[in-house]
Amino acid sequence: MRDFSADHRWLSINTATVRKSRGVEQPLTGIIEACVQRGIRAISPWRDQVAAAGLPVISKLVKAHGLELSGYCRGGMFPALDAAGLKAAREDNRRAVDEACELNAACLVLVVGALPGALAGKAAHKDIALSRSQVSDGIAELLEYAKASKMPLAIEPLHPMYAADRACINTLEQALDVCDALDPSRTGALGVAVDVYHVWWDPKLEAQIRRAGKDRLMAFHVCDWMTPTTHLLEDRGMMGDGVIDIRRIRGWVEAQGFAGYSEVEIFSSGNWWQRDSAEVLDTCIARHRGAV
Ligand code: ZN
Repeated sequence: MRDFSADHRWLSINTATVRKSRGVEQPLTGIIEACVQRGIRAISPWRDQVAAAGLPVISKLVKAHGLELSGYCRGGMFPALDAAGLKAAREDNRRAVDEACELNAACLVLVVGALPGALAGKAAHKDIALSRSQVSDGIAELLEYAKASKMPLAIEPLHPMYAADRACINTLEQALDVCDALDPSRTGALGVAVDVYHVWWDPKLEAQIRRAGKDRLMAFHVCDWMTPTTHLLEDRGMMGDGVIDIRRIRGWVEAQGFAGYSEVEIFSSGNWWQRDSAEVLDTCIARHRGAV
């Protein structure tokens, strides 16, 4: 297992972590500069942040600084109520692949979606099995496009509390079942993003990480689970402040040969987004060394 205590060369910052500083939305260009100043070598930006700054601007900045992308957030949201919705999702995902290629991302992370309409507050139906089959079909189709573009797809299983509105793939086992069905020969084109926040509780986690193996382990996301958790989406903790045994899980991932970045991804409207982003980045570096 790699020793992270001496430096932060394997730290990546998911840019949502510093999306806000003192409650104010921050431009991605400034976030990138702040990371570079601290010797952070990798980021994982969100599409909306890239779009706001302009893809060419961000692409140029990333290249100028020699920054790597541990992933690109995100594609997915495949299920829809009708053919037009499915088509719109398909086209949007292809654009996400194109953007990920332009930014030379390690993978495009997929948050697969769930019941159509649920995220907006009203689910159009209750058939989660239908959503799951649309997800599988959507990934199958996107995979062909992504393979041609040489952009790996990483399915991120989300904690079951998001099964209705964000992702109907909720365990690593489920994600790997989809991988095995769509990419049985393990071409390296399809795998998973292991986010400790979503999977730490799973009694099958270690076994499924072993099942994934090096070729399917494409991204490793860290933060912490607070007790109590006060918001379903935006109360993620800083590594070391909660109950997740992050180092143990990293050990399992690295035992399979994963040697990529440890990506800090914290959504925290009540705490970290209220602080100065300089403090947040400095804390990420310290905790990466001490608690990851
Ligand atoms: Zn994640």
